[in-house]
Order: sequence, then C-alpha cells, then structure tokens
Amino acid sequence: MRTLSLAFSLLLAACATAPATPMGGGEHEHHGVSSAGIAASWDASRIEPILARTQRLHLSPDVSALTAGEQVAVRELIAAGERMHQLYMAQRHPQALAAAQFVAEHPELTGVRDLFRLNAGPIATTLDNTREPFLTVSPETPARNMYPAGMTRATMDAFIAAHPERRETLLDDRTVVVDATEENRAHALMVLDHHPVLDTLHPGLRARLQSEQTYLALPYSVAYAHDILFISERLSAAADVVESGDAAFARYLRLRARDLLADDYEGGDAAWVTGEFTGNLNAQIGSYETYDDAMYGVKTFFSLSLLVRDRPRSAELQESLQFLQRVEDSLPYESDREVRSDIPVGVYNIIADFGQARGTNTATILPNEAYLARQYGRTILMRGNILLDESLFQETQRAFAAAVIDSQANDLTPEGGFYRTLWHEIGHYLGVDQTADGRDLDAALEDTADLLEEMKADLVSLTSARILNQQRRITDAQLRGIYASGIRRVLQKSRPRREQPYQTMQLIQWNWYMDHGALRFENGRLRIDYRRYPEAVTSLLREVLAIQRAGDRARANAFVERWTTWRPELHEVIAQRMRESERTRFTIVTYEALDGPQPR
Ligand SMILES: [Zn+2]
Repeated sequence: MRTLSLAFSLLLAACATAPATPMGGGEHEHHGVSSAGIAASWDASRIEPILARTQRLHLSPDVSALTAGEQVAVRELIAAGERMHQLYMAQRHPQALAAAQFVAEHPELTGVRDLFRLNAGPIATTLDNTREPFLTVSPETPARNMYPAGMTRATMDAFIAAHPERRETLLDDRTVVVDATEENRAHALMVLDHHPVLDTLHPGLRARLQSEQTYLALPYSVAYAHDILFISERLSAAADVVESGDAAFARYLRLRARDLLADDYEGGDAAWVTGEFTGNLNAQIGSYETYDDAMYGVKTFFSLSLLVRDRPRSAELQESLQFLQRVEDSLPYESDREVRSDIPVGVYNIIADFGQARGTNTATILPNEAYLARQYGRTILMRGNILLDESLFQETQRAFAAAVIDSQANDLTPEGGFYRTLWHEIGHYLGVDQTADGRDLDAALEDTADLLEEMKADLVSLTSARILNQQRRITDAQLRGIYASGIRRVLQKSRPRREQPYQTMQLIQWNWYMDHGALRFENGRLRIDYRRYPEAVTSLLREVLAIQRAGDRARANAFVERWTTWRPELHEVIAQRMRESERTRFTIVTYEALDGPQPR
C-alpha cells in the first residue's frame, strides 16, 4: 500500500491514547502527521504579488463585559475551534496537515506562512482567480479529501445509479466517503468498539460498515473520532462554566456537544435558534456550509465562530423589528402573510473564527436545512466588527468613488452598509416563501432559486430602509447611506458568469436601475437618481416576487437572460475604473484572543 488516506490515518489516531493537541502559540501538531516530502514550490516572484494585494485585519473586540465563567468558556471554545480548524484543513486537502506541520517547522518562510494562513491550506487563490499549490503537494481536485482520491463525479454518479439505495449515506451532508478496503473497514469498526457512544448514537452503522462494498460512508464523528471527542468535551466544559450565568447558552452547548457525536444537529440547532441567551457570548459550532464541496455541493465543512454580543446595537435592532409586519405589508405582492417579530437576530463582534468561517463574512443566517428552518426558524448573527471595519470600508469606498460622479462619491458610509446587510438578512424572512401551488422555491426554480431569493432579500432591505425612514427611525442622511450601499453592492468589477448567483442578480439590479432611471451613465461615470430609486426598487421587487410565486423556471430563466446584458461601452468602462481603484483583494484576519496583540 503506497499511501494512507487522511481519513485512514485519522482513524488510527482515533484509537491512540494520545494527549490532546497543544493549543495556542500557533503550533499545530497532529498525531501521526509528518511534514516529510513537503517543500516550498513558489519563489518570491509568485508569492509577493499576492501578498502585495493582501491587507491585514486584526480583530480585538471589547470583551471587558465577560464574566469570569465566560472568560473560561472562551478558552474552552477557542480550544474547540483550533481543533475544528485542523479538521477543516484536513477536509479540504489530503496533505493539508502535513503542510501545516511544514509551515510550523519553517518560521523563516514568512511569505509561505502568510499564504498558508490566507488560504487555510497549501492551495492559493491567485490574482487570476485560479487555485494552485504553493507547496509540493498534489493539486486540488473536486474530491478534496471527502471522497476517495482521484474519484470523479462520473464514477460516483454511475455507482449511485447502479446502487440507488446507497445515495442517502454516500451523499449525506456529514459523511466522508472512503474506499471499502479491509483496512478502512476494520478501523472504522475498531472506532465503534473503542467508543461505544458512537456505536449507540448511530443505529445500524455497524451492520452497514460490515456489509457495504466498494465505498464506505463514514459519519464525521467516526472518521474524525479523536478530534470530535476532544471538541465535544471542550463544549461540555464551556457549558459547565456558563451554566449559572446563561443557562440557555449552556443547554445549547451541551446539546451541540452531543450533536457532534451523533452527526445530527437538530437538538442543538433548536436550542440555538429559539434559546434566549442572556449572557455576552454566542457561537456557531460545527459543519454547516457546503461551498467547499466541488463534487456535489453536499458535504459540510467545519467551522466555529466565537462571538461577543454588542448589546446597544442588538437592542436597537430588536426595537426596529416592531416594524417588520409593516415592511411585509408594503411589499408589492398580494398576501396576508403574518410574520413573527421575535426573530432571533443579534449584533456581535467576532472574538475568533475557525475553519470555514474564518475571513471577512459580514453575517450568518443558519441553519440551512429547510425542515429545520420551518420548524425552529433561523438565527441571524450580524458581524459588527467586520461590517463596520474602517480598512475594509476604505477598499469598497475606493471602488464606489471610481464608479460614480464626484459629487456622490462620499454618499457611501460604513453604517449604510451595516444596515443594508442587516435588513438583507431579515429580508430572507419576508415575502414569498413558497409557490402559489405550495411547492418549495428550491424545487420549483432549481438553479435560479438562489439568485431570486438573494435579489429579493436585497430589495426588501432597501424597502425596509424607506419604511424605517418614513417611521422616523432613520434619518434622511442614513437612508441615503443605505441607498448608496445598495448601488455599490450591484456594481461589478468583471462580467459575472451565469453560475455565480450573487454577481448575476447584482448585474440584473444594475441593468434594471439603468432602465428605470435610478442610474444614469454620464461621461464614463454613474449618477444615482435618489428620487427615482425607490420606484425602481419596488418595480423590480414586484417582478421577483411574481416569478417566485409562479414558480415557473422557464419564466425565471427568460428574466435572467433579458436582464444580464453586459455592454463594453458601459459596464466594462465602470468595471475597469473599479478594477483600477483596487489596492487589496485578499485579507488576512488575525485575532487578539488567538494571535495576541497585533504585530508591529
Ligand atoms: Zn442572503
């Protein structure tokens, strides 16, 4: 046998009685992982241009309100997060942990260290938007490290077509697919022997692992047992220390500790979404998002976000939710829908992000599964210290100033972006939520469903701003900042590809606004007509809601086709101006709680 798959070596690790991975200090050792055979493959001429376009963002939120118990919980959750980050890297590339070990052993290679940090692994996104290894590791494949190495979609499609009863476990959102070798089988069964809790929490798994041929679908808790057990213990320890001060948060942490062992998040999600947390902390914990699965888009990747509540902004937000029904009633469609105004939304500052969550995400709305959202709702976490960060704002401001006429260049404000994003997330709760004949929008509209849903949320956000202004909850100047942010949002630096839902729906808005007089092209720049803007928003929203309600995929595609023109003498002129204003494209985020004070 030439090489061991990572899932296989993790199985070995699961059965070793090894001490926990040492946390903090940036040293990441993983049992059984060696950096042998790994070397740097890029010279400075490849590294420097990328780092020259990379800014650094150091997050150091005010945590002075944390109780003694919460401070201990933060340490436990950081330990859990560090381990989840390792899992995330391992999910994305079979040699990621060996590469991490190499980087840790070579502190003198600062450029390599920064690229590794930026990309959470040994594959870099280049300035040409390609993905290439910068260490001597294998190139990235669609299988990542979640399907057997070398597997293609055609192979898996054929297998599933021949064995339809295997689809559910192979394409489960929380299983790793490995070859059904005797070694892999034996080790998976050994994990169940050594950790009876996993056996108990997965009825039928033992029999399945004993009998299945060709491929095995290993639940994450079995594939990564050693790590998942460690993380679960950290969550339980964190629950113990916040129990007296924030019982609901403690119950959520305990349920999530169990969810991770069962690979079923319903209990923790219900407690997370519906719980009234009274303390200062919140956390997104586990595997949720599927963006990294390039094969089927079904495998979820690990993340942990540790957040401290911004009490004044959260309170202000709760206040404005009393107008939610008024916003719903003003949407341009026939409906007598009643919306709840107690939706779980809060403003937070990031203490630390791990795994898939690391970066400059501005907001989170979870869980994704429709059946969970329908039963419990979704929680909305606004990430204040990203949304209001001055250096990130400067970059977006430069692009805006390059695109619009000089007299409007200062209309954009960080606060405008903050409120626009906030009401975008809330916008997902409003408007059409199923077709007139009762079908799910996803099922009815398929590949245009996401695009229309995101556009709806954008337009509901702008509608909400108008209504909050009418109710004198926001000033005219604040409204203008939100409207300017709505324009900045839709301007593109390059022509979108049809499979990019966000960029495509932004281009549709851009074109609609041009057509309806909210934007005018003047001497190579755009002028915003704020008077005609509200009606342009309303008319586009009317169209979007009608298409969603009809659930007609052909009509949706025709609409997208009609409104995604890209003209060299207009769009390309603006796009080029925006590209030329760009100083940074990437951001390395560091955290006071993790990396210590910002290096000077
Ligand atoms: Zn959205």
